[in-house]
Amino acid sequence: MYLKPKTLDEAVSLLASSGGQVLAGGTDFYPALGERAPRGCVVDITSLGEIRGISIESGQVRIGGLTTWTEVIRAPLPRCFDALKAAAREVGSVQIQNRGTVAGNLCNASPAADGVPPLLALDAEVELASAAGRRRMPLEQFLAGNRKTLRRADEILSAVLVPRRLKNAASVFLKLGARRYLVISISMVAVVLQSDESGRVAETHIAVGSCSAKAQRLGDLERNLVGLRVKAGIGAAVEAERLSPLSPIDDVRATAAYRRDASLTLVRRALEACVGSR
Ligand SMILES: Cc1cc2nc3c(=O)[nH]c(=O)nc-3n(C[C@H](O)[C@H](O)[C@H](O)COP(=O)(O)OP(=O)(O)OC[C@H]3O[C@@H](n4cnc5c(N)ncnc54)[C@H](O)[C@@H]3O)c2cc1C
Repeated sequence: MYLKPKTLDEAVSLLASSGGQVLAGGTDFYPALGERAPRGCVVDITSLGEIRGISIESGQVRIGGLTTWTEVIRAPLPRCFDALKAAAREVGSVQIQNRGTVAGNLCNASPAADGVPPLLALDAEVELASAAGRRRMPLEQFLAGNRKTLRRADEILSAVLVPRRLKNAASVFLKLGARRYLVISISMVAVVLQSDESGRVAETHIAVGSCSAKAQRLGDLERNLVGLRVKAGIGAAVEAERLSPLSPIDDVRATAAYRRDASLTLVRRALEACVGSR
């Protein structure tokens, strides 16, 4: 059965009563089916205007779950979102960006989802709506592993919430793939860097994707960079051992050793690019 609710309340109640699957842009949903038809009920949420679009609220930026990557690219957003916009431009092709949504990318929970590292680096939270109400949790917690999230089957990811605290921080996203366009990453890195008044690192957030079951923050490295002067050459302060939490695998795209090496280079380059964009 195919259902197309008009409001979020209607959608969560249909989801609870039908036990159906959520369909948004369909750019992960349909490829995952292959030649099969969907099993059970499909709840198409693309008419829920109330969870589409981006609004700047007093303490946070609210990105509706149905917001497409094209809408992210076009929205006027604070500087710390530059990495997210750069990631949005890397999601597939323009056609995929026109259709694919932020929530779809997060709920699909691929280790190579381009939206995840920038949102982790922004300390994003997700808001989950169900017939029982709304709850929120850090994105880092929501992503439980490769293709696994803490979303209950009756929940819709209604929004991604980003605190505005670091709004003027520099931010950079770098993705390495086997070719320039329409590619799944070998590694990708997002960095958010806040300088203090004396030109030193006050805070930095560094997330790496495609190098573990889920993208992750490198907390030890982040702490180690605090207090360094924000100037060209800062990348050299990143020691290879600080990337030891990563657990890359060998696959058709790259070996684990190559991924590890590439990630180190990307982290260094992303930090240098943050300096360049001050
Ligand atoms: C050719 C091609 C290239 C691609 N390239 C990239 C790429 O370079 N980088 C990248 O990261 N991704 C890429 N993708 C994957 C995909 O486009 C993105 O992950 C996109 O953001 C998915 O969004 P969607 O709205 O299409 O999700 P859908 O396909 O509609 O849904 C994906 C999953 O999330 C669930 N879901 C969707 N929305 C919600 C919601 N609001 N609440 C609860 N559950 C929900 C669905 O049930 C489904 O399980 C590519 C896909 C294709 C087909």
